[in-house]
Amino acid sequence: MTCLICAGPAEELACPERWEERKCAECGHYRMSHALVLALMDQGQIFDVGKARAWLVNQRRESQIPYLEHVSGLLRT
Ligand SMILES: [Zn+2]
Repeated sequence: MTCLICAGPAEELACPERWEERKCAECGHYRMSHALVLALMDQGQIFDVGKARAWLVNQRRESQIPYLEHVSGLLRT
């Protein structure tokens, strides 16, 4: 599978319904809501990889597996 953030190779893990879980060597371990994945595809938007990784690092202070649901400010403009 590919990473939903950087499109590099990533491991897909089993996770609760409505979520996508990935473990990427570069971005790390995260969950992204299915609705968000579809919305990004629909709108043809992609992540600003640097910003998204920084956000994930920051989130990991709170929880080991950050949940990505709202991404304003993390997308390439
Ligand atoms: Zn990645």
